[in-house]
Amino acid sequence: MSSMLFSDYSSSTTARFLPFSRSRLRVDGAVFCRRLLGPLHVRPPISVSLRTTLTVHSSSSSSPVISATMGTGTSAKIIDGKAVAKIIRDEITAEVSRMKDAIGIVPGLAVILVGDRKDSATYVRNKKKACESVGINSFEVRLPEDSSEQEVLNFISGFNEDPSVHGILVQLPLPSHMDEQSILNAVSIEKDVDGFHPLNIGRLAMRGREPLFVPCTPKGCIELLHRSGIVIKGKRAVVIGRSNIVGMPAALLLQREDASISIVHSRTKNPEDITRQADIIISAVGQPNMVRENWIKPGAVIIDVGINPVQDEKCPRGYRLVGDVCYEEACKVASAVTPVPGGVGPMTIAMLLSNTLSSAKRLHNFQ
Ligand code: NAP
Repeated sequence: MSSMLFSDYSSSTTARFLPFSRSRLRVDGAVFCRRLLGPLHVRPPISVSLRTTLTVHSSSSSSPVISATMGTGTSAKIIDGKAVAKIIRDEITAEVSRMKDAIGIVPGLAVILVGDRKDSATYVRNKKKACESVGINSFEVRLPEDSSEQEVLNFISGFNEDPSVHGILVQLPLPSHMDEQSILNAVSIEKDVDGFHPLNIGRLAMRGREPLFVPCTPKGCIELLHRSGIVIKGKRAVVIGRSNIVGMPAALLLQREDASISIVHSRTKNPEDITRQADIIISAVGQPNMVRENWIKPGAVIIDVGINPVQDEKCPRGYRLVGDVCYEEACKVASAVTPVPGGVGPMTIAMLLSNTLSSAKRLHNFQ
């Protein structure tokens, strides 16, 4: 029987991983570890001394951003993505309300869902709820599986013209008879809140150019680093994974922040030799517990994007979620690490809301 995994991350493309059947759950051999565009407002950080090559700052030891160490024998600070995302959502709520009071405009996000995949429907519902929670209007179009590409294009074109819509998101995956590329390309670059339009990615890659939107998950990773007071400039960073939606834009963003970047992918030989040199690792692979203690330089900061279900009969659902990084081992050697779940996941949807707000501000010239 197929199990549904309803995670809290929201990048439209991640839906393609789900639902998964129990038989596809990953069992990780003998080791079963338990497991932008600038910040909206960065709190003045107070330095916390760590045995690290990096300086990690936190406003207090009970900061919602970086919480205390795990337990005996571990040293890493836990970067609490859920708490950071909550702070960002509160900031967005305040900005939405300020904009409404000042110019009578409420930001609007349109989501197009084609077909009846339950996981996609859940993601769309979550986005709608997230919009409601911060006061952003949401518009939803649901089309049957056998709709034509032209019908989808017609809706996109309508939303492109609609002044009450500031962000357009096409929930992926699309049915196989549709050309994903031509549909995504039809979204106006000015409303491309997912940041997947080639023009936005191209601008991200070019010096002196500014993308209108940055893809939500990598933007969330950088925001987590900023809000945790972690210095990126001049550091060595390794991104594991080079997908269009996470790895590649994450590497571009780190480079824009003046880090020196290496990218590790499935053809990289001896990846641990490369990751061991990194002050900052962002991992977006989809392989449970792949990054082990000996992959990590003492004191490195680890941002784990991976969300991987692994079989665990002790859990009510028969599985639990782990990252790409062996969490317990990372906690022993890293200076700061994001948990899975509760790390990058909650940031993705917060960044979608942030992108929608920025779009509305830009389109209405509201500072
Ligand atoms: P993807 O499109 O499948 O890309 C995976 C990347 O990892 C590819 O570049 C691949 O290399 C590389 N890779 C695969 N096996 C590897 C190995 N053994 N060693 C080194 N590199 C390897 O996946 P994605 O969309 O980027 O997602 C990655 C993970 O992040 C998944 O677990 C996904 O669920 C999660 N995710 C989380 C969020 C969130 O909000 N937290 C959002 C999106 C995705 P090649 O290019 O050589 O094939």
